[in-house]
Amino acid sequence: MSSPYPCGHFAAIHDVQPSTTEGCVECLQMGSPWVHLRICLACGHVGCCDDSPMKHATAHFRATKHPVIKSFEPGETWGWCYLDSTMYDPVPGPTPRRHIAPPIR
Ligand SMILES: [Zn+2]
Ligand SMILES: [Zn+2]
Ligand SMILES: [Zn+2]
Repeated sequence: MSSPYPCGHFAAIHDVQPSTTEGCVECLQMGSPWVHLRICLACGHVGCCDDSPMKHATAHFRATKHPVIKSFEPGETWGWCYLDSTMYDPVPGPTPRRHIAPPIR
């Protein structure tokens, strides 16, 4: 049987819990805004997308080599493998009910 996934990294994902439902973990600490959120499907790290100033989801991949993220935006089920530069939709994983916006300061 062949896997429905474009690479083995998607097949290897398992259930994760979001590390936070407040927003990008690092942005919250440093007071930086974000645009959209991504969740690491290896450990549940919530980070910000590449349209955000600090690109913490990609930074998390560089630091940990956790290969697969999923969009952590309402209604979005796509995932991305950094190692193979492949997208797949839908991938299982947590999805917030509404967009999590940065705190207004
Ligand atoms: Zn892959
Ligand atoms: Zn961030
Ligand atoms: Zn991770």
